[in-house]
Amino acid sequence: MEFEIFDRIKKECYDQNITLIAVSKTKSVEDIMKLYNRGQRFFGENRIQEWADKVTRLPDDIRWHLIGHIQTNKVKFLDPVPELIHSGDRISLFDALEKEGQKRDIEFNVLIQIKIAEEESKYGFSIPEIEGIAGTGQLDKYSHVRFKGVMGMATFTDNMEKVRREFQALRSCFSQIQRYFDPYEFCAISMGMSGDYEIAIEEGSTMVRIGSLIFGAR
Ligand SMILES: *Cc1c(COP(=O)(O)O)cnc(C)c1O
Repeated sequence: MEFEIFDRIKKECYDQNITLIAVSKTKSVEDIMKLYNRGQRFFGENRIQEWADKVTRLPDDIRWHLIGHIQTNKVKFLDPVPELIHSGDRISLFDALEKEGQKRDIEFNVLIQIKIAEEESKYGFSIPEIEGIAGTGQLDKYSHVRFKGVMGMATFTDNMEKVRREFQALRSCFSQIQRYFDPYEFCAISMGMSGDYEIAIEEGSTMVRIGSLIFGAR
């Protein structure tokens, strides 16, 4: 556990009003408790089963964020309701969350995952695709899915100018589509991980998702 790095990033985020999500996937309950005891409350997990196993063994006031691809047949296992799902990567997931939300009379807070990396990543909407979808009102029908903003992952590369351009593209897409939502609600830009969070912050991130830099390599 890298407490010094954690304390530094925590302060940096606090000073700039950015939410720090400690990405705890593959890490133990004991490791999570070490950060919890140092004041961290936002944790990110990417597998529902692993998350569900951890939830019952950890304090209730942890604010859980899900950051990984979710199969539609797994939405029934979203219990407790996570504070935010960052990986809203397709319409069929919104449909499944809507149905589950109606059934349980709850709402799911979701970010729209957008492909910004040049490499053909599997998950998320392309920028033109989401601009079309949002612009034609296709996201207006959901009453149990609340769209809170966007999420994206930059290309895994040493070329920091490329990473910066990708974050700029996400930021600009966010601004383009924000008008189709309630701007007070649609305000999160989740971008930045261990290798690129500083650039993400410079480019307007409001939420960084940091794992290995804090917890050590997975
Ligand atoms: C694993 C993961 C992270 C954190 O990655 P690190 O490089 O360890 O900081 C952030 N976002 C998503 C979507 C992830 O899957």
